[in-house]
Amino acid sequence: MGKRANPMAVKVSLTYEVGEAAFALGKSEATIRNWIKDGLPIMASKKPLLISGQDLRDYIRAKSKGAKTSLGPDQLFCLSCREGRKPLRMAVAVLPNTDKTDRLEGLCETCGGVASRIISKAKSPHFAATFRFK
Ligand SMILES: [Zn+2]
Repeated sequence: MGKRANPMAVKVSLTYEVGEAAFALGKSEATIRNWIKDGLPIMASKKPLLISGQDLRDYIRAKSKGAKTSLGPDQLFCLSCREGRKPLRMAVAVLPNTDKTDRLEGLCETCGGVASRIISKAKSPHFAATFRFK
């Protein structure tokens, strides 16, 4: 593990592409992509991926607090709770993300907010057994 990212290095009023976020934080693009896989919210499913500065800062803070951001096998990442949550009635929509990944989106069973998760298409059958795909 390298030096911890400084959440104040990003501006909450800006949006960042992966490369820009990496540059601002002194991290590699691969690190930022891992964060996205780990639950860092992105603003659009189209390329280029955009990350809001606020989400980026919140994510770094949650990470440095030692908050658990890795998701259980039956969880999505809730943007409001900022934690892994099960989707309401285990129902999720499958949205295209990239060539190799899809985005699962459901409603948080705790707060009713939007919760999502990026999955590898290769693992889709596995998640289909856990969640109810709409
Ligand atoms: Zn929630």
